[in-house]
Amino acid sequence: MVRITGGSVYDPANGINGAVKDICIDDAGRVVAALNGSEVRTIDATGMLVFPGGVDVHTHVAGGALNFARGLVPENQRIARKFLHTPELRAGIGGLTPTTFATGYLYAGMGWTTVNEAAVPILSAKHTHEELHDIPIVDKSTLLLMANNELMLDLLEAGEFERAKSLVGWMIQSAKTFGIKAVNPGGVAAWKWGKNANQLHKPIEGYAKITAGQIVTQLARIVDELGLPHPMHLHQNNLGVPGNVASTIETMNLLQGHRAHLAHLQFHAYGGHDWGSMKSEAPAVAAAFLAHKNLTCDVGAVLFGDAVTITADGPWQHLLYELTGRKWGNLDVENETGCGIVPYVYSDHKLVNAVQWAVGLELLLLIDDPWRVYLTTDHPNGGGFWRYPEIIRLLMDAEFRKAEVRKLPPEAQKRITLAELDRQYTLSDVAIVTSAGPARALGLAQKGHLGVGADGDVTIYSGKPDADGVMLSYPRYVLKAGTVVVEEGEIRALTEGREFIVQPAFDPGIEAFIRPNFEKVYTMSFENYPTEMSRIRHPQIVPCSR
Ligand SMILES: [Zn+2]
Repeated sequence: MVRITGGSVYDPANGINGAVKDICIDDAGRVVAALNGSEVRTIDATGMLVFPGGVDVHTHVAGGALNFARGLVPENQRIARKFLHTPELRAGIGGLTPTTFATGYLYAGMGWTTVNEAAVPILSAKHTHEELHDIPIVDKSTLLLMANNELMLDLLEAGEFERAKSLVGWMIQSAKTFGIKAVNPGGVAAWKWGKNANQLHKPIEGYAKITAGQIVTQLARIVDELGLPHPMHLHQNNLGVPGNVASTIETMNLLQGHRAHLAHLQFHAYGGHDWGSMKSEAPAVAAAFLAHKNLTCDVGAVLFGDAVTITADGPWQHLLYELTGRKWGNLDVENETGCGIVPYVYSDHKLVNAVQWAVGLELLLLIDDPWRVYLTTDHPNGGGFWRYPEIIRLLMDAEFRKAEVRKLPPEAQKRITLAELDRQYTLSDVAIVTSAGPARALGLAQKGHLGVGADGDVTIYSGKPDADGVMLSYPRYVLKAGTVVVEEGEIRALTEGREFIVQPAFDPGIEAFIRPNFEKVYTMSFENYPTEMSRIRHPQIVPCSR
């Protein structure tokens, strides 16, 4: 049992904005109104800032793609990070794709206590769950890649919406995931023939009727009708390409009437017609986004320095390889999806990278409803997640931000609007975009706040600026389900997090469709396909709304 006293509490979900208030956590790890008895540890947080633990709505920390990246970039792994290689902790390797134990230490050390691994194929779900279990401390969830699954595309092509819905329900139950992610709808399937899906209203490669736009809307409808707590999580077509603002806004219009979460919107907010004319279209994207109340987004901000790009978007990764000449790896996941890896460096001397850096910040500042836009770097695509405090500083300090803009190449400064933006994030804004907002978007009622019944996940900052004058750099204490896991920058306790999954209802008759098709084309036996429930070590089933 823990009582945190004297701190200024920032709990925007409960309307608390800096009030001095005790937070009590019982033996079950839940926030309660009061505690009795002598077995209570008291943390004196006088003068400190008390936040709900951070929630990462979109990150890549486990599974086959990560392991592929770890293997492709061995030089990267020599970079050891804080929290690694101490006698008490399991060894880990660092770099942009830290191994499982290190990932948990780094997230908890930063004050984040829940992470959503954004992409898993059914075929490799077992391995992903094993790795998720090995990430200590944080709670986690994962999303199933569905927008290029050939069985589903065949059903949509045939106009069999109800059976497609049952198929998605069966797949989610079989992979033990929390929701679905659509990546470059139709484009990853087309990549198996070296093609892409750049247009929303043209039939995708290998099909006569079904278009990328239809895959987007039908999957969003399926997620809504299955009643999943988290809306369809969408990585749109044309990621990273100059001029993609048109298809980004067109996709928002197509989604009218459905919930959707737009992933890493920064990579989808570019104007111009080629790399030489690329510019920010963040103002247009932010305005369109704000007009669509059915949508949430995370930014996928980029930071100058090293990154590793990892995505199911195979055709984009091949283009990035052609543009950069860097190492490139491509994986094919049978009939479900694919994956590409390209290590990358964002340079503040390069026009394109400078524009990308500005677009992420512009979106975070121009979308002035913090409940619908969340802080991510699409780790490790835009930079390591442990660099979030750098972005928070840029959001909170307009003068510092403008000074950073003035360091960019003059040509890049003409193509962005960041220098004109004066907004500064308040502490409450930070609590929303890092915790309360993403928890609400994920549909996790016990996360992102400190009210009675919430999980006792608490991040306590010193309340004093660090040596660089930064307020929220690294936390003084981090509590996970009431256990003090980080104190004075060191891991003090190792706990095992839970995994959130959903079990949507579906017509079990769909297995009669899946089995013969599966046995015809897959390399695995059908019985070995689903992930057994016993592999999920600490499951928490979140109910579907219908
Ligand atoms: Zn991603």
